Amino acid sequence: MIPYGRQDISQDDIDAVVAVLRSDWLTQGPVVPKFEAVIGAYSGVEHVVAVSNATCALHIACMALGVGSGDRVWTSPNTFVASANAALYCGAEVDFVDIDPHTYNMSVICLEEKLLKARIENRLPKVVIPVHFAGQSCEMLVIHRLAKQYGFLIIEDASHAIGGRYEGSPIGNCQYSDITVFSFHPVKIITTGEGGAALTNNKELADRMRLYRSHGITNNKNLMELRPDNEIWNYQQIDLGFNFRMTDIQAALGMSQILRVDEFVQRRHFLAKRYNQAFKQLPIIKPLQDLNTYSSWHLYSIRVCEHLCQKMQKQVYELMLQSEIAVNVHYIPVYRQPYYEQLGFKPGLCPEAELYHRETLSLPIYYSLTEEQQDRVILSLTRALE
Ligand SMILES: *Cc1c(COP(=O)(O)O)cnc(C)c1O
Repeated sequence: MIPYGRQDISQDDIDAVVAVLRSDWLTQGPVVPKFEAVIGAYSGVEHVVAVSNATCALHIACMALGVGSGDRVWTSPNTFVASANAALYCGAEVDFVDIDPHTYNMSVICLEEKLLKARIENRLPKVVIPVHFAGQSCEMLVIHRLAKQYGFLIIEDASHAIGGRYEGSPIGNCQYSDITVFSFHPVKIITTGEGGAALTNNKELADRMRLYRSHGITNNKNLMELRPDNEIWNYQQIDLGFNFRMTDIQAALGMSQILRVDEFVQRRHFLAKRYNQAFKQLPIIKPLQDLNTYSSWHLYSIRVCEHLCQKMQKQVYELMLQSEIAVNVHYIPVYRQPYYEQLGFKPGLCPEAELYHRETLSLPIYYSLTEEQQDRVILSLTRALE
């Protein structure tokens, strides 16, 4: 079976992990801060907080921005559930902004319309979480302008997007946001097994996220309460946090993987171009790229439109599976999940995202996909559409 995505692990990656296994520290040692520094330098951002996964990163990002009950957080429906769940963990209300029919990112037109309406109803969001779908940046210049105009904060969910660029600068530099989140899950661009990071240029936010990452515990004398001299207080819990720490084992894998991030993304570009070329005559919609973005090509998503090819997405999906090609669907609109329907969300909320869900298929794209394997995908898809 050819999967839609997978990791690539080199001998150097294995050696880096084994070196940590033989060292004094498996966790809370020297490698996590080194990994954070390397991610920071690569992304052009000041502070990096590495955590156990991107879901934790989104959670502590919301906490650091003060998201709580009574607050509203808006995100894209075309994302993994974690983008929205993070706000629910904090007791906030979630809502969804429909997607752009061409990039499948949050539509800035829908965002502005929804903001106008929310201002009248006095229901403006505290935080908006744009998701860089498939690794292509959202229109951050516009979202940033709207943030200033309507007074909301921004967390970029860049789980797909390390190695991507926007307006020539690396995604993750937080030029147009408060915090950016990366995922290092094995299907993403680089991996640490499980892993994630929250990036920011704001030291106060970084300090707060570090606190939440580790139980709300500090050993910084300036933050600790004064206690009697004859007692030992080498740490204090000053807030309620979690154990969201990354291990040194994970960080070592990440340190080794990040060395190849550009190579990984270049290969994905090569494969995307090859698909584009091969699909020139096929009656499907290929993924559109904005001129001011450089995608990391986490996903290559096509649309199977019945009016173009007289085939249903599901038929093509099943034919591909029969050919041992594990195409996938990214994404079911989050609010259509049974849990979200129980919260009161109704079908029809975001028509573009719902239509997209019924048409999309993600084809295999990853560093180690060979051209022969890709040709098999192309051939199978061509036959499935006949
Ligand atoms: C993968 C993913 C996440 C969650 O990442 P984990 O590291 O698995 O927690 C969040 N948002 C998006 C858009 C993702 O694709």
